[in-house]
Amino acid sequence: MTEHRTCLVDTHCHLDLYPDPAALLRTIEEAGVYTVAVTNAPSVFPHTKRLTERARYVRPAIGLHPELVKTHAGERSLFWQHLSETRYVGEVGLDHVTTDSGERSLQREVFAEVLERCAAAGDKVLTVHSRRAASTVIDMVGKEFPGVVILHWFSGSVREASRAAANGLYFSLNPAMVRSKSGQALIESMDPSRVLTETDGPFVTLEKAPATPPDVSLVVRHLAGVWRTSDEEAAGRVFGTLRRVLNPHAPETVS
Ligand code: MN
Repeated sequence: MTEHRTCLVDTHCHLDLYPDPAALLRTIEEAGVYTVAVTNAPSVFPHTKRLTERARYVRPAIGLHPELVKTHAGERSLFWQHLSETRYVGEVGLDHVTTDSGERSLQREVFAEVLERCAAAGDKVLTVHSRRAASTVIDMVGKEFPGVVILHWFSGSVREASRAAANGLYFSLNPAMVRSKSGQALIESMDPSRVLTETDGPFVTLEKAPATPPDVSLVVRHLAGVWRTSDEEAAGRVFGTLRRVLNPHAPETVS
């Protein structure tokens, strides 16, 4: 029997916000979980980039979280300056928990420029926040975006999710989503080929401890139930989706 290792995938983890990022990085590398280490402000990106420089499984992402746009919009020039240093972008997007129209419009302005600059670069992979703003985010990304957009912790409607999928967007599902009724309903409605996994740690917690990338196995177990298959096969499908996302021009039959 040949040995087969299933690789897990966490496309949205805030590595820099755990108490000991270097220790967590070692854990991720040992477990072999493909991880996108998102950042919330351009000024902290260089640190995560340095930390993950020699990592095999972890890639640094540059971002400006929509909830920080109000205070950190001045860091935009740093964002554009570092953008060519990584293929991964996040956390970016819109958050309409704020009802302040000025703040919402500044969020849209920043996100529009992120999309425009990423489109110009061509091969970026974006992990996108869309709380209470799903329709606007889907409209802003559009149908022709020349890159990969992953809607992280999507909480829009089933109809919005199906519109996003039809536009070619992906979803990263986390342990908090599989615990909630609305998250479960969304997951059941989703085309499995659009599904990736994430932890959003340390914000998502499991029995009071922050989730870490190996905990995506809980999401995989839930997906296995929904897809009526084994955990191994479900993990394999998610990993296959990541590979397709990262190498869109590779031949379909890869051993
Ligand atoms: Mn996040």
